[in-house]
Amino acid sequence: MNRTSLLSVLLALSLLTGCAAHPDGSAEHAVTIFAMDTVMTITAYGSGSEAAVQEAASQVRALEGLLSVTSETSEIYAANHSGGAPVTVSDETALALASALSLCESTGGALDVTIYPVVRAWGFTTGNYRVPEADELSALLARVDHRAISLDGNTLTVPAGMQLDLGAAAKGWTGDQLIALLREAGIASAKLELGGNVQLLGSKPDGSPWRIAVRDPFGEGYVGVLEAADEAVVTSGGYERYFEADGETYWHILDPSTGRPARSGLASVTIVAESGALADGLSTALFVMGGAQAAEYWRSNGGFDFILVSEDGSVSITEGLEERFTLSGDWAEAELNIVRT
Ligand code: AMP
Ligand code: MG
Repeated sequence: MNRTSLLSVLLALSLLTGCAAHPDGSAEHAVTIFAMDTVMTITAYGSGSEAAVQEAASQVRALEGLLSVTSETSEIYAANHSGGAPVTVSDETALALASALSLCESTGGALDVTIYPVVRAWGFTTGNYRVPEADELSALLARVDHRAISLDGNTLTVPAGMQLDLGAAAKGWTGDQLIALLREAGIASAKLELGGNVQLLGSKPDGSPWRIAVRDPFGEGYVGVLEAADEAVVTSGGYERYFEADGETYWHILDPSTGRPARSGLASVTIVAESGALADGLSTALFVMGGAQAAEYWRSNGGFDFILVSEDGSVSITEGLEERFTLSGDWAEAELNIVRT
């Protein structure tokens, strides 16, 4: 969905905050906002949930204010426009960046937070889509290398000409902060829907697991349903943002080794993990890697599960999801591979 259609969806929502009483007596409060370039809905249950969802929404705004790559008042913007001079950033920006940088490292640069000059050349942040020439891409790629970023405590240095973008990981990191905030407010059951990211605090109010649908990357509907609680379920896919030119589809997840949309044979990657920051960073990185390398990464690192939907229509899940993921509808007969250690 592009920005315009997202906005029209938002405008069509007559109620941006809502509440309801459940048969078991628990109150439900929800707030929907447009932030971090996507529609977000925060739903919490039980006493205190009304104030808690409002506080969570304010927290999203505050973190967006620090981490946005396009807002001229953000800390990331300041670092990107300092001409290579060190800047002092808040603890939040430092922690969000440190978490993303460690995933850049562990994924061997499949995730690279310095890819922004290339993302911008394709028009993915502005909507002015174009296919850059090979020369232009190689010149821009010379400015892409997460290892050149220096973060020492709260001192951040982005070398001149380079630009940071936390777009692939910021929503997950933000989700983790919101879950902590809601938990501290005494909330035991909540669901965050932050674009393609779902983050869950506890189970549903009745104690049963949430049922999270994994979207069909090729059309409407969904591939299957995952039972989940107390964790993040984050999906990256080419369908989320793309344009077509000369009969080719170009999507927003780029391979930092080529500067071009990652064509690894995957149509979507869903990561299930306790940490939203990890799940978000890895959903993007494993999409770039492709199925074989993704399985290798999982075997070497662990700490998460995945659902990979391939362009050939097969689905691969790690063994930890075997008992709680079910293919559904048109996908019920799809080839399902279980990836084991
Ligand atoms: P996500 O939706 O989490 O997969 O993140 C995709 C967004 O991250 C894109 O819209 C780009 O802004 C940015 N991006 C694209 N490719 C990469 C990459 N390989 N590493 C880091 N960020 C990327
Ligand atoms: Mg991501």
